[in-house]
Amino acid sequence: MKAGIEKEASLEALVQAEKLKLLYQQSFVAVFGNFFSALLLVIVLWPVQQHHVLLAWLAVIVFITVLRMILFTRYRNIQPDGLEILAWKRPYIITLLLASVAWGFGAVYIMPAGSMLHQAIIYYFLMGMSGGAVAAYSSQRGITLMTIGCVLLPATVWLLMSGSATFVIMAIAAMLFIIAVLRAGKVMSDTMHDSFLLAHELKKAKEKAENIAELDELTGLGNRRAFYRAGSTFIEHSKRTNDSLSMIVMDMDHFKIINDSHGHAAGDDALTHIGRLLRTNVRNSDVCARVGGEEFGILLPSTTLDGAVNLAEKLRRTIEDAPLIFDQDEIPMTASFGVSSGNASLDDLFRDADAALYEAKAAGRNLVMYQQASN
Ligand code: GH3
Ligand code: MG
Ligand code: MG
Repeated sequence: MKAGIEKEASLEALVQAEKLKLLYQQSFVAVFGNFFSALLLVIVLWPVQQHHVLLAWLAVIVFITVLRMILFTRYRNIQPDGLEILAWKRPYIITLLLASVAWGFGAVYIMPAGSMLHQAIIYYFLMGMSGGAVAAYSSQRGITLMTIGCVLLPATVWLLMSGSATFVIMAIAAMLFIIAVLRAGKVMSDTMHDSFLLAHELKKAKEKAENIAELDELTGLGNRRAFYRAGSTFIEHSKRTNDSLSMIVMDMDHFKIINDSHGHAAGDDALTHIGRLLRTNVRNSDVCARVGGEEFGILLPSTTLDGAVNLAEKLRRTIEDAPLIFDQDEIPMTASFGVSSGNASLDDLFRDADAALYEAKAAGRNLVMYQQASN
């Protein structure tokens, strides 16, 4: 139960991180838009407001713009990933809050007393900024509300208290607009949240399905499909680096006798036992898989024929020295090995290792034979 809650919490955190990433991605444009809007407003108000008032306000906007640019540039350079992104939420909100307050209270500060037209123009700009905030921050409802509140509230209160009927109507219209926009924003925000959540769940389910599709349940090793997939990656790599790739094919000796004399369950146990021995004796960087009924394949990247033959010999002795204990019976087991190596295709490596394995069987079993792969 606790693990389930923790898993859900971490998924929720991942979704939060994804949404924050989206904000950072689109904020470069938003911050430029913010600055140019301020510049335009100053130009429009230039004839009707004292210049030092306008310049002081513009200086504050420039300062905050620079602050936000520094933040976004640092984010771009560091490129945080996964849950690390969450540490970038606080600076984002603080600088956005500064920008919103600079607009909201700044608008009242630069409001020219004598011109109703210009007062209305300022309000028009604020509405535009709020609309932009909804578009840019819709994935984060809290941030959208905070921004709109800071940007619009001071000027709206100012308009409502101005005593002008026109302004009161304008303020009411603005509030209706904001309510409509916020409702639409909620739908968008919830949908975006669900789609991020779904994308994460799908990704996890896909990874799980891929793991299951490439796992051999009995031995805990990879299956033939996993072997071929890893094989083609190794072949590509060895072609590029000119490194030799080696392959071991191993087949249990007289396995049919184990099934016939101790039953199929003993045969299954024997395969599980062999899987365990292989997993503990083969490096993690190598690929070990059950490629047939009682046949196993091992791929050894950057390994010479000598190295591969040595490993095969070690495995041969390990299997010989570790009989299966089944129903208090000791069942001895041996295996035969074919080894191949070289810069050949996967099929060629397989063919040569198989030919060597055939020789090992023909020569009496419990043996390692090898071939340098022909190209
Ligand atoms: P050889 O030394 O020539 O390889 O003899 P062998 O008996 O091992 O070879 P053969 O190919 O004649 O038989 C393989 C046996 O492996 C027959 C089959 O029933 C058994 N086998 C294959 N897969 C499984 C499995 O998943 N479980 C069990 N219990 N037996 C299996
Ligand atoms: Mg066999
Ligand atoms: Mg076989």
